[in-house]
Amino acid sequence: MKKIAVLGATGSIGRQTLEVVDQLQGEVGVFALSAHGNVDLLAEQVDKYHPQVVAISDQSKLPLLRRRLSGWPGRVLSGEQGLVEIATAPEVDLIVSAVVGVAGLVPTYAALQAGKQVALANKETLVAGGHLIMAEANKRNSPLLPVDSEHSAVFQSLMGQDPTALKKIILTASGGPFLRSSLAEMEKVTPEAALAHPTWRMGEKITIDSATLMNKGLEVIEAHWLFGLDYDRIEVVIHPQSVVHSLVELVDGSILAQLGPADMRLPIQFALTYPERRVNTFSRLDLTSVGEIGFYPPDPQRFLSLQLAYAAGRTGGSMPTVLNAANEEAVRLFLGRRIGFTDIWRIVEVVMGEHDKQGLDQAPDLEAIIAIDQWARSAVKSCVRKVLK
Ligand code: MG
Repeated sequence: MKKIAVLGATGSIGRQTLEVVDQLQGEVGVFALSAHGNVDLLAEQVDKYHPQVVAISDQSKLPLLRRRLSGWPGRVLSGEQGLVEIATAPEVDLIVSAVVGVAGLVPTYAALQAGKQVALANKETLVAGGHLIMAEANKRNSPLLPVDSEHSAVFQSLMGQDPTALKKIILTASGGPFLRSSLAEMEKVTPEAALAHPTWRMGEKITIDSATLMNKGLEVIEAHWLFGLDYDRIEVVIHPQSVVHSLVELVDGSILAQLGPADMRLPIQFALTYPERRVNTFSRLDLTSVGEIGFYPPDPQRFLSLQLAYAAGRTGGSMPTVLNAANEEAVRLFLGRRIGFTDIWRIVEVVMGEHDKQGLDQAPDLEAIIAIDQWARSAVKSCVRKVLK
């Protein structure tokens, strides 16, 4: 039995990972679970999956979790150290890194250093620390397993291909709910409208990122690290139907793609059973019910976030950390109705400009990444005071 640890078990990807575990009927065992602060759901998951260790990263929730689990014989850990302990436990074969935000970086890095297989759902890990993560991942002969649907599609399309045959990667984007809105309309968008994603059911932060296309921008940087390609060889196309999850173009002009239902459990399952495939009862794609599908270039005027992400990726060093942290903070302010929708990318652009003036760190270590992430978040707050009075 493959023993897994799920970091971020109560989030959208974590919950769907456990649904996949149910499907796999005893093939995968849950050794450890972590959550940020959702004590109730974590305790329910402990009852159902019988892990041996749990961790809560929000230290203030530790007493509550201990009370909820009183009488349970397993170990209860907390904080970043708790996540690292889970990620490196000798009993664990594979970790699912599904923590939200840059908090996923340290435990994921520790897991790789400990020789674990890693199924990566946390984009920020590669966006902020791609140079560190890939240096560690490339030391072993099992690949870093992407859980993001686009990267799983690229990964699957490349299986059996000679790496030198790859010309470019084509990531698909649904375009989100404002694909056909004007810039003036986008300025007045509410959080409710932005949270109504047309094709995917996801957590709040990533749903807003899908509406600005920042999610695709972060995925471009993720793809750069995972597949080792220059940014000129990573293309984004709008594909509103979310049927083709991404494609690869080979040197001879052939294009290969992976298609499927818009169901994250599929890439999650493939990461858990890789390199093998397993039957499941998830939804299936009925090609004849899809209707017409299309592919369009993204409009750079209305989706500045995507341009900012390419720029941050090309600049490299600490800039993607700033892009990601400033965006995360700006999304939080938008969801709290403190700023408008199009202010999200305005703020990110200003904060990236400030970081550029202060000087980049070309190859930040873990400590520097965390410090720069913190700086970018506070820079967002002062930017909001100055620019958006
Ligand atoms: Mg994705």
